[in-house]
Amino acid sequence: MADVSLDLLTEWLRRFQSLVADNRVYLTELDSAIGDADHGANMDRGMAAVVAKLQEAPPTAVDDLFKRAGMTLVSTVGGASGPLYGTFFLRLGTSLGAESSVTAEALGAGLRAGLEGVLQRGKAEAGDKTMYDALAPALDAFDGVAAGGGTAAQAAHAAFEAAVAGRDATEPLVARKGRASYLGERSAGHLDPGATSTALLFQALDETLAG
Ligand code: ADP
Ligand code: MG
Ligand code: MG
Repeated sequence: MADVSLDLLTEWLRRFQSLVADNRVYLTELDSAIGDADHGANMDRGMAAVVAKLQEAPPTAVDDLFKRAGMTLVSTVGGASGPLYGTFFLRLGTSLGAESSVTAEALGAGLRAGLEGVLQRGKAEAGDKTMYDALAPALDAFDGVAAGGGTAAQAAHAAFEAAVAGRDATEPLVARKGRASYLGERSAGHLDPGATSTALLFQALDETLAG
């Protein structure tokens, strides 16, 4: 089974940046309904800074790639999403180590380490209407395919579909974490912005690995 190269993982982040830029207005619209109307701006500023950093000096290994991405997000995004996505990428980098390519299973384990970081920081549970609700099912799907001997591309495709389903399932939920929770029952009937950007993260991985 072909491993996923540092170049492809770098391309994943570039593609995520481009999807975030394309969806900047949409993500901010979602956040204007149940938050403070900045999720698109936050993610776009953060990912543009990540891509600029990678342009300055190409990553030397997969841990360098994701640790730099994570640190850049933490330092450039003030909102909840900066530290959450930042921690996700930092933990992913630490888990993968100084490799030049990774197996599907290692990538799955790394994404899982990232999720643990999000949980430690944000303490979200399933159904709280956060990015967790797209991330957790995506990783379960990824691991299921990888454990069954599937390729990283197949795992990423399953993860994207699960992230989309998880994102869509946030619509009727009442938020219990983050700014949207201040609205109580009025947060129901809207997609969660962070779950929506997380679906873009897996769309980017799916598109990148599909070639
Ligand atoms: P802010 O709410 O500080 O303005 P953003 O608008 O950029 O930050 O991000 C909001 C998103 O962050 C939410 O839609 C939700 O998905 C996610 N989020 C907020 N709090 C938490 C948390 N405690 N755990 C996980 N995700 C969270
Ligand atoms: Mg916001
Ligand atoms: Mg904000």
